[in-house]
Amino acid sequence: MSILAVAELKGTELKKVSRELVSAGRKLGEPVVALLIGGTDDHAKELFAAGADVVVKNNTGDYSPEGYANIAAAVAKDKGAKVVLLPHSIRGKDFAGRLAVQLGGAVAADVVEVKGSMDEVEVKKPIYSGKAYANIKIKSPAIVTIRPNSQEIISHSGPETIEASDAAEGDVKGRLSDIEAAEGQKIQLTEAPIIVSGGRGIKGPENWPLLQELCDTIGAALGASRAAVDAGWIPHAHQVGQTGKTVSPNCYIACGISGAIQHLAGMGSSKVIVAINKDPEAPIFKVATYGLVDDLFEVVPALTKEFKSVLE
Ligand SMILES: Cc1cc2nc3c(=O)[nH]c(=O)nc-3n(C[C@H](O)[C@H](O)[C@H](O)COP(=O)(O)OP(=O)(O)OC[C@H]3O[C@@H](n4cnc5c(N)ncnc54)[C@H](O)[C@@H]3O)c2cc1C
Repeated sequence: MSILAVAELKGTELKKVSRELVSAGRKLGEPVVALLIGGTDDHAKELFAAGADVVVKNNTGDYSPEGYANIAAAVAKDKGAKVVLLPHSIRGKDFAGRLAVQLGGAVAADVVEVKGSMDEVEVKKPIYSGKAYANIKIKSPAIVTIRPNSQEIISHSGPETIEASDAAEGDVKGRLSDIEAAEGQKIQLTEAPIIVSGGRGIKGPENWPLLQELCDTIGAALGASRAAVDAGWIPHAHQVGQTGKTVSPNCYIACGISGAIQHLAGMGSSKVIVAINKDPEAPIFKVATYGLVDDLFEVVPALTKEFKSVLE
């Protein structure tokens, strides 16, 4: 019996959410086995440090939903995995259903809290566009996709076992051949620890540099509301919300965003929310940890200047 966490890479880097998965796995039981497809021993070390007891390496190449589901199912069966944890990423979402069918299990998607045991996992997930949470109990075998940035990463030390798996991809019908980064997206929104987002209040595309300078100063990704995207001020890849990206950064700074329910659906689980808005009645203040009722064209440059003086 074990918990299986399926790690994910971005290029040559291990995605942070992979370490979150192995840490979350330890809340349910031991041993925690990490499946590393296409990764290196250095990636394995990162997984051990965050909670893995065993790392199973498989050298399959490019991603395919059938291939990853077949390999994960074979390793899950081999290791007697009662729970399989996946990132709630494009890939994780893509093959979670297939994997569940192969293991005869149920899926809980976009989970922000995990507890219970490997026989019965208790998960918490946002529903109704983030207005409420559902607490769900799932009997093993459970397949759980976890929202990036939602789990604490623990520091773990113990025996480190690396095993090789020759589980086959099987019959692959479609394969991911290439990923093109969206233009202008310096840091990936869903993985970013800090996000600075702009809405209709920024008045026009000529004002993004104001927010971008703050982003560059504090290492944040640039987000946007749908109003800004629909106005053609910024590509959709930056949109946060119900019809954009779901993010859970440590800090979300909303500039000139009113806080419509569809926007909150995408960022409501951020750990700290800072709202800068001229209107004291703006709904964003209801969810904000810190609120500044002021003109963003005054506040944002002042914040950037202050951060620069501290950080540089
Ligand atoms: C099916 C559906 C899906 C949707 N999906 C999404 C989604 O994914 N993401 C999303 O964001 N929206 C989404 N929307 C749209 C959503 O309902 C809102 O229309 C949108 O979020 C509003 O964007 P905004 O806050 O930038 O604009 P507004 O609501 O117009 O707010 C602009 C804010 O800027 C403030 N402001 C103006 N000037 C300044 C200044 N100088 N300094 C400080 N503050 C200032 C104003 O007080 C105001 O609160 C969706 C809507 C529907 C119906």
